[in-house]
Amino acid sequence: MTVIAAQLQAVHARIAAACLAAGRSTDSVQLLAVSKTFGPEAVRAAHAAGQTAFGENYIQEAVDKMALLDDLPLQWHCIGPIQSNKTRLVAAHFQWAQTVDRLKIAQRLSEQRPDHLPPLQVCLQVNVDGGLTKSGVSPDELPALAQAVAALPRLQLRGLMCIPDPQEDAEAMRAVFLRTRALYEDLRARGLPLDTLSMGMSADLEAAIAAGSTMVRVGTAIFGGRSTVK
Ligand SMILES: *Cc1c(COP(=O)(O)O)cnc(C)c1O
Repeated sequence: MTVIAAQLQAVHARIAAACLAAGRSTDSVQLLAVSKTFGPEAVRAAHAAGQTAFGENYIQEAVDKMALLDDLPLQWHCIGPIQSNKTRLVAAHFQWAQTVDRLKIAQRLSEQRPDHLPPLQVCLQVNVDGGLTKSGVSPDELPALAQAVAALPRLQLRGLMCIPDPQEDAEAMRAVFLRTRALYEDLRARGLPLDTLSMGMSADLEAAIAAGSTMVRVGTAIFGGRSTVK
């Protein structure tokens, strides 16, 4: 077994244990493998071990990597900031964009999504802990943005994602995740057919699953530490 296969297995075991502790079924949480800064051979090793969904932060790096892996049936999620000048690449190459936080970006993605592809699957990134410099829509502005994005023809709004700052302990972390869950449930109560709550990373996936996450985004615990800071 490769190191990556063994680490993937360990992450699946953590997810299963967290689901059990939360009284949830194991298949209620999807694993997104975050392959940023790792090369195509790492993605190949993870795919050989059964992983099909991959998350990338840096759009040009991701597109270059995809070209080297187009013999594999992979699903790519954009989880990094999307500037206006990158929307065309995201619309053309990714299946999911999880970091939409402005209507202007959503409109460009919808306009630029090629006709031969299915709608781009979208999560809205929420700035749930109010960090001033962080990306993400504020909870106050979320309902209006969600309604507007849900109406765009070439996007399918699937849910919310958040990247909270680390908290002092697991309980505080869980409280932040629970706030995101409440925002998600509120949108569903307004009639939006959402099914994805993307939260939890290597360090905090247990707290996120306890709070209702349906997708954890895990890099380090699968691929190892990232040496390059971009
Ligand atoms: C890098 C990254 C991850 C993965 O983080 P790890 O701590 O390596 O698991 C998850 N989500 C986002 C948005 C990231 O940028």
